[in-house]
Amino acid sequence: MTASCIIRPPADALACSNCTAWSQWDHITVGQDGPGGFRVIGRKPTGQCRANPPSINSDAIGSETAMWPVVGSEDWCRQFERRDQREVAA
Ligand code: SF4
Repeated sequence: MTASCIIRPPADALACSNCTAWSQWDHITVGQDGPGGFRVIGRKPTGQCRANPPSINSDAIGSETAMWPVVGSEDWCRQFERRDQREVAA
């Protein structure tokens, strides 16, 4: 695996990245300790959960006032609703 490898749950997994409420946001770097020290092995996507209306950040400037919870691709909750695999995540 290289540092640019994207690590995602399987398409059939109970996971936020397979949910209709998932909205792709960013990535987190994933690594592991080894004999040569810490080594980056890839990146995991993070997304916004849009299952509920956003909260409002009154300190934000411009159009960035809406805030949704940020979740990892492998997270899940009881509101999980499987996205059609032919559908592209937002
Ligand atoms: S937290 Fe729940 S509703 Fe939100 S994206 Fe994840 S599984 Fe879906």
